[in-house]
Amino acid sequence: MPLKFNFNRIETDFYGKIDMNNRFVALGKATSRQPIPFEAPKGKVKDYFAQDVFTRERMKEYIADTVLEQLFDAVDNGRTISREIANSVAIGMRKWAMDHGATHYTHWFQPLTGGTAEKHDAFFNLKSDGSFIEEFSGSALYQQEPDASSFPSGGIRNTFEARGYSAWDPSSPVFVIGDTLCIPTIFVAYTGEALDYKTPLIRSTAALCKAAREVCWYFDKGVRHVHANLGWEQEYFLVDADLYAARPDLMLTGRTLMGHLSAKNQQLEDHYFGAIPERVLAFMTELEYEALKAGVPVKTRHNEVAPNQFEMAPVFEDVNLASDHNLLVMSIMERVARKHHFRVLLHEKPYASVNGSGKHCNWSLQTNTGVNLLAPGKNPYTNLQFVTFLVNVLMAVYKYNGLLKASISSATNEHRLGANEAPPAIISVFVGKQITEVLDKLEKASVDKGIIINAKKEMKLGVANIPEILLDNTDRNRTSPFAFTGNRFEFRAVGSSANCGAAMLALNAAVAEQLTLFKQEVDGRIAKGEPKEQALFAVIKKYIITSKPIHFEGNGYSDEWRAEAQKRGLDCETSVPKIFDRYLASEVVNMFDATGVLTKAELESRCEVKWETYSKKVQIESRVLGDLVINHVLPAAKRYQTMLLQNVLAVKQVFSEREVESLNEQDYTIIRRIEKHSGEIISCVDKMTAARHEANRIESERGKAIAYHDTILPLMAEIREHVDELEMIVDDELWTLPKYRELLFVR
Ligand code: ADP
Ligand code: MG
Repeated sequence: MPLKFNFNRIETDFYGKIDMNNRFVALGKATSRQPIPFEAPKGKVKDYFAQDVFTRERMKEYIADTVLEQLFDAVDNGRTISREIANSVAIGMRKWAMDHGATHYTHWFQPLTGGTAEKHDAFFNLKSDGSFIEEFSGSALYQQEPDASSFPSGGIRNTFEARGYSAWDPSSPVFVIGDTLCIPTIFVAYTGEALDYKTPLIRSTAALCKAAREVCWYFDKGVRHVHANLGWEQEYFLVDADLYAARPDLMLTGRTLMGHLSAKNQQLEDHYFGAIPERVLAFMTELEYEALKAGVPVKTRHNEVAPNQFEMAPVFEDVNLASDHNLLVMSIMERVARKHHFRVLLHEKPYASVNGSGKHCNWSLQTNTGVNLLAPGKNPYTNLQFVTFLVNVLMAVYKYNGLLKASISSATNEHRLGANEAPPAIISVFVGKQITEVLDKLEKASVDKGIIINAKKEMKLGVANIPEILLDNTDRNRTSPFAFTGNRFEFRAVGSSANCGAAMLALNAAVAEQLTLFKQEVDGRIAKGEPKEQALFAVIKKYIITSKPIHFEGNGYSDEWRAEAQKRGLDCETSVPKIFDRYLASEVVNMFDATGVLTKAELESRCEVKWETYSKKVQIESRVLGDLVINHVLPAAKRYQTMLLQNVLAVKQVFSEREVESLNEQDYTIIRRIEKHSGEIISCVDKMTAARHEANRIESERGKAIAYHDTILPLMAEIREHVDELEMIVDDELWTLPKYRELLFVR
């Protein structure tokens, strides 16, 4: 049964708005609001999980055992893959992909612009006699040279030598989407510098593995490998596709640049964990099915705090794979949302005054022996290992809190950070009551009395001891940007549209360096004859004291915390272009160099790209806002003002002079307010345009980004205030843009 919409007193199969000429403008068919039912195939998830992935299991059907042995050995132990092996793998890979319906292949890479990039080639070639052969060589798998001159490189690669190579990352399995075989690749300049997020992420896991493994040897000589796990939680908004199409700001910038808060928003907190609306559920079911087929182990879905805000989370995986999977899911989301007549908003702050979206990155360290190094152990001895890693993470976050903030900063996340509901723009670590008690005890314990470990591996630490730590998972602080949650750290400041890699590579590298320094210190003490446990304990104790400023259990949103953090020497900068400077601080450059994750040249080029992207994003927003107010807002306001003025004149003709005064009072007030706001808007738009011209003349990317931040953003905010006031006054029938109450509540 077709839905009937009753819009402004007109019943119709369409829904839409009344335009300024009092005509009904259809925005879309009302029936498009009906759920599009989707049912995953009957049967168990395991029947279709990773169906579109060339898994190890599947490789065995297509590739010879001897080749696979070498391939797996190379992947598992970080060794290079020879050309011959690549050739044999490519042949099997193409066969599988074609059996799976693929006709094309693409190197799938992660440029610094964000998102993923791909260039598709067909699996065929022409022989010299003009006949057709199906072909996919080892070299096509191994390495490609996309004409990538238009990807940002921050000056590393001049356009006349536009050589960037994408190279196969065999540790992330290939998969088929539609008719295309997608090959996860790194993206580097011909000189070897990284032009993407994946390359330094892989380097950072190698550094972390090495450093963590050596620290593990204090406790267990059998550890061969340590890797970082990532479990991301992706938040997003859905918006009806037709309403989205009627909001040029959402379409062009991903967020609303204006819009008065809806009378009902999230006050009742009735959305969080509420029942998922039917149309949304159909979308989620299909999204999960598609993600599962692509090998992403999605597990959790729920409503979020804001209206029309949702979250999806998988089971954690190795950080490199998890990061690929996150990007993959983001693109699947966009595709599936369209099918359900929605648009997905991955922007961190699509709407002012309601919660923004983040991407909590749950991070932990795991050994090949199956031990989670951030989970408290069963006995005091394993707890000493746990405390070792916990305290080293605290130290790393303490030393590099500015860098970690830079790693999550962007023009879009800027609107979320520091706002009231989101993590504050100061990085601190929350560990909960029990861990705080343990750290306090350790701090007070005397090193001199030594620690004794008896045959049963029971440990006594002077006055204090580390008991079996049973963690209460309800001990949570939602205001912390970096929180310990029982068996992992949760980096919550990461933005919903971000590539997880940016934050994870900074964290991995910082912890890797820290663990290396820790080992040097402990080894130094052991060399001087101190017993191992005592040396470990002494350094841990010292770290607990040094890293204290980063440890904060209170309310991260409070003003007191801002003042306190300043006193503690934490990074309190809030201007994103200046936060990017942290990448170039000498200790950061040294740390990335020592861990082999990024060179100084790479860091410099990354900063250039970040500043440039920042300016461009604000520039686009500013232009869109200017156009919208001139073409939509002011005409509507003027038209309403004219109606009121005509009314004033008409009243004058009908009523006596004394009556007229009181009758027109209200009209006069609104007429004057419209006049005032319109005048302010025009003057601000002029100032904003001039400020843009001035900013564009600045040569340095950093200087330009700072100008955009300092001069253009405040004018945009001022314009918005006046526009939102007008929205409240002007007749709803004349307002051409869908309002927050429609964008947020239609589902
Ligand atoms: P919450 O919203 O309460 O933080 P969720 O269940 O939404 O929790 O998400 C938890 C995320 O943390 C999931 O992605 C999960 O896989 C991940 N996770 C759980 N344990 C670990 C771990 N040891 N290391 C990394 N990630 C983990
Ligand atoms: Mg979480």
